[in-house]
Amino acid sequence: MDITWSGPEGSSHTTLYLCVPFFIGGKMNIKYMEMAFEEAKKAFNEDEVPIGCVIVKDDQVIAKAHNLKEHRKLSLAHAEILAIKEACEQINLKYLVDCDLYVTLEPCMMCMGAIIQSRIKNVYYAANDLKGGAATSVIKIKEVPNINHYPQLYQGMMQEESQALLKKFFKGKRKQKNEI
Ligand SMILES: [Zn+2]
Repeated sequence: MDITWSGPEGSSHTTLYLCVPFFIGGKMNIKYMEMAFEEAKKAFNEDEVPIGCVIVKDDQVIAKAHNLKEHRKLSLAHAEILAIKEACEQINLKYLVDCDLYVTLEPCMMCMGAIIQSRIKNVYYAANDLKGGAATSVIKIKEVPNINHYPQLYQGMMQEESQALLKKFFKGKRKQKNEI
């Protein structure tokens, strides 16, 4: 559901996506999640688990990536890790201060670690990952004490589409398995 909302900084109307249950505000842009979703679709078409990610700085996309674990034969090749690497190369800095990361699935422990290490400010993710999510699902990162940087987390934008794509992928995989 798209809503028009007048931001707390007195900004004029800002289009926000209403996210429940814990989205309470912040600037976000659906177009970046749509781009992340396009990346997820690329992964799907390449027979990879469909997860996509984009990183935005000053309203400019500085990195786009999708999961490439199978192609790279590398368990580290998650969309977020590849996007963080690309973003750092793009701006030639090790930290991504004031950057926003959009990803179609809740980041795992490794990716949350990378998000923290790279000092990303805001993380917008679509679907929850109840089996591996390190934002609020398996680990509630905000409840882990004494971390030197906590990103702001926003969940829910394009949740249904992202979940449906993952379901379609795994359903196809099960079907393939049964046919063998
Ligand atoms: Zn990950």
